[in-house]
Order: sequence, then C-alpha cells, then structure tokens
Amino acid sequence: MRANPLAPERLAVPADVNALAPTVWPSSASRDEHGVLRIAGVSARALADRFGTPVYVVDEADVRARAARIRAAFVGAFGEVGATARVYYAGKAFLCTEVARWVVDAGLGIDVASGGELAVALAAGPDPALIGVHGNAKSDAELRRAVEVGVGSIVLDSIAEVDRVATIAAELGRIQPVRLRINSGVHASTHEYLATAHEDQKFGVPISQAPEAVAAIRASGALRFLGLHSHIGSQIFETEGFAAAIRRLMALHAELLRGGPVPQLNLGGGFGIAYTDADDPMPVEDIADGMAAALAESAGELGIPVPDVALEPGRSIVGPAGVTLYRVEVVKPLQVHASGDVLATRTYVSVDGGMSDNIRPALYRAEYSARIAGRVSDAEPVLARVAGKHCEGGDILVHAEYLPADTAPGDLLAVPATGAYGWAMSNNYNWIPRPPVVAVRDGAARVIVRGETIDDLLRRDAGIEGSTTT
Ligand SMILES: *Cc1c(COP(=O)(O)O)cnc(C)c1O
Repeated sequence: MRANPLAPERLAVPADVNALAPTVWPSSASRDEHGVLRIAGVSARALADRFGTPVYVVDEADVRARAARIRAAFVGAFGEVGATARVYYAGKAFLCTEVARWVVDAGLGIDVASGGELAVALAAGPDPALIGVHGNAKSDAELRRAVEVGVGSIVLDSIAEVDRVATIAAELGRIQPVRLRINSGVHASTHEYLATAHEDQKFGVPISQAPEAVAAIRASGALRFLGLHSHIGSQIFETEGFAAAIRRLMALHAELLRGGPVPQLNLGGGFGIAYTDADDPMPVEDIADGMAAALAESAGELGIPVPDVALEPGRSIVGPAGVTLYRVEVVKPLQVHASGDVLATRTYVSVDGGMSDNIRPALYRAEYSARIAGRVSDAEPVLARVAGKHCEGGDILVHAEYLPADTAPGDLLAVPATGAYGWAMSNNYNWIPRPPVVAVRDGAARVIVRGETIDDLLRRDAGIEGSTTT
C-alpha cells in the first residue's frame, strides 16, 4: 500500500496494523488468543469493563524494572571512573504514593517541585533525606516545610533564595544541604519548549553569577553546599548536550573547589523515550557510559578528582510503562488537500478523552502512536488522527497514525507511552473528571489513584448547595 500524502515522513504504512512495537509499549504488552491487548496479563477489555474509559494503565513491574536498570547503569558507569551515583526519580513525571514506593524500593530517591509533590512523597513514607526539592518560585511555606521535615537537598534557583533558605534554616535550628542550579547556556537538541538551559529562560543562575551565590552559601552557618546542578532539557536523544553541560559545569566546579569542598555534581534528567516506532532512544547504559566518560575526561583536564554525581530521570522511568485506554465515539473520514490539487483522506477518530488527560500533543505537538486494543483487524490501514472530545480544534491525542479501516465507534483504542506527564498534567477542561490510574501486575489490576466523578467536580462549585468551598 502507498503512503497517504498527508502522512508525515516518519510514519511508514505498517506491515501489520495490530503490531505492538516493543520500544513503545510496556515490556509485558501482548495480544491474547482473541487479539485483545494485554498488559501484565490483564486484558484491555477487562480493564475497560471494570474501570471505564478513559483509564490510565501502568505496568508496575515495568516501572520497577526501569528504575532498577537506570540506577544500575549510572552506578556502574560512574563507578568505573571512581565516582558514586545517586538516582532521584523526578516525581513531577507522575507522582503518587505507590509509584514513590516502587522507586524507593529500587534504591532511588525522589525529587519534588512543589509543596503538593513534597506532601505526596512524604506520605509514601521514605526517609526525608531521600527527597530533593526543586522549583524556580518556591514559596516561604514550601521552603519552611522542606527544611522542617529534613529533606536531603534543596536546589537553589536564584541568588535571592540563598538568604531565604538560610534564614528559614537558622530559625528552625537546622543546617540545610543545598545545591545551586546553573543555567549552563547549553541548549539540548529537543523541542524548544522543553529545552531548559539556553540563556534566555527562567531556571537557574548564570555561570557568571555562580561564584557569588556559592560564596553566600558558604558564608551561611545554616547551609551546607552539596554542589552544582544542571538540567538541560527533556526528551533528549544524544549525549552531546550532556557532555557540553558537563564541560561547563566542571570548569565552574573546579573553580569553586579552590574555595572549599564541592562534594557532588547533579546532572539532571531528560533521557528520551520512544513515543512512536520512529523514535530510537539510546540504551540508558550508553548514556551513562557517555556521561561518565565526559566527566572523567573533564576532571583529568582540570586536574581535579571526579565528583560524585546525582541524576534525576522522570520520563524514562514511568513513560514507557503507561498506556491510556479510550473508547472510540465517532469516526469521520475527511477529504483533505494534501499538496496542490491532490486530495487525500484523513480519518478523524474521536475518543472519550483528550487534552484533559493528555495535554502534551496540544501543548507542544508531542507525537504519540495508537492501536485498537479490544480486537485485531485485517482491514487495510488508513491514515487517522485521534482527536479528543474537547471544544478546541487543537485537542488532538495522536496527530498521525495508521489504524485499520474498520475502526468503529465502541472500539477500544490504546495510546502507549503515556506514563509520564499524562496524569501529571491532567486537568478538568470542559468539566471532564480525571480518569483513574490503574496498576497492573501478575494478572491483577488495582486503582492507585482514584478517578474523579462529576460529583467531585460539583462539590467545588460554590453556587451549589452542599459544595465544599473551604
Ligand atoms: C523535569 C526535570 C527532570 C526530569 O526530566 P525527565 O525528562 O522527565 O527525565 C529532572 N530534573 C529537573 C530539574 C527537571 O525540571
């Protein structure tokens, strides 16, 4: 079959429109003898019957295994160059107490970026020293809570924050370990809105101002300097950006060593995952080896010891383990001008969720893929666009995917790789309740985050009798 002229270059006509690309789906995903998608031994039909749609499904063993593998890769690679490595799960990707416990079980710490995330991480019950606190606009209340419970590190994001944290720590009689986030100027090769380290952005302190900030940290009796922090962006596929950031950070690190100890270097997260089968992320072992080599080389050139490192992956731990199940509501084939006078058919498949459960395609044109989940089909592939149910033309879940020509209302549709920044960024646009998150493991399913009901939403409307407004 010829490619549809409306299809993007990356999207080949699939040989099998039912196939589950192993890079994109959870490692346990398969089809059962009836062709029904199964994750960790639980069928998509059973999940939809029991929990309704949309529903977020997360493969627990897959999250645990990715966390363990990533930790082992970094501990191993940095161990080879004489450094220890600590891995913190970037909780903003998807945080609830269950996931927090899974990653702590795998030997990871947890990074949080708000008072709410801190509360959830603490509710999971880990040693607070395993928690790191981020944020470019932390409130006094958030800082106070973090110091009070004894978090392992606070990542300072501005010079002004040095004094604020020092004052709070002094009032509470604590010595708070801190890192200093550096805006290294390195622009990771990724989508513009995801790149966080070119100079014109809100995060961190420019390299030129870092010595002043570190001097202030060291002068405070209430702070302990752990070292520098750098996070150059997200969904990064190659190691050059990390190596460039390491070179810049290490030059600064060496300069700071002349004034006192700098025990660690935090290199952030941002490791890319496959959202479609055109994505080809590097194995984490190769990323870890590349980063460790760059660190050792820099240390050698500067004549300083290799520092211990910290890393903060989020997406690469939970992203590939999650799948969202939807129900198809409407199928609409449209004749669309491809180029010039050429007309081609794009089939709009509208489902019962949308930008309220996955805003990434609308927010930064993130690409996803999709498969029908409740059966297999031998119909020919047609170019489809999976749209949500919101009152917004940009409410798209999958911009381009080949789906079987007989896809029809009532079919279950699964979108893989939704484990990160899906539920975490969910919202109630159009008064749509958030779907539940269901963990699957060894043939069993359980809710780990309850879905919202319309009653939950009504309770917040102050004009309704019996609503909860305080
Ligand atoms: C978002 C973020 C991460 C995690 O990024 P991923 O792309 O999910 O790995 C790590 N560190 C900081 C500071 C972040 O802002």
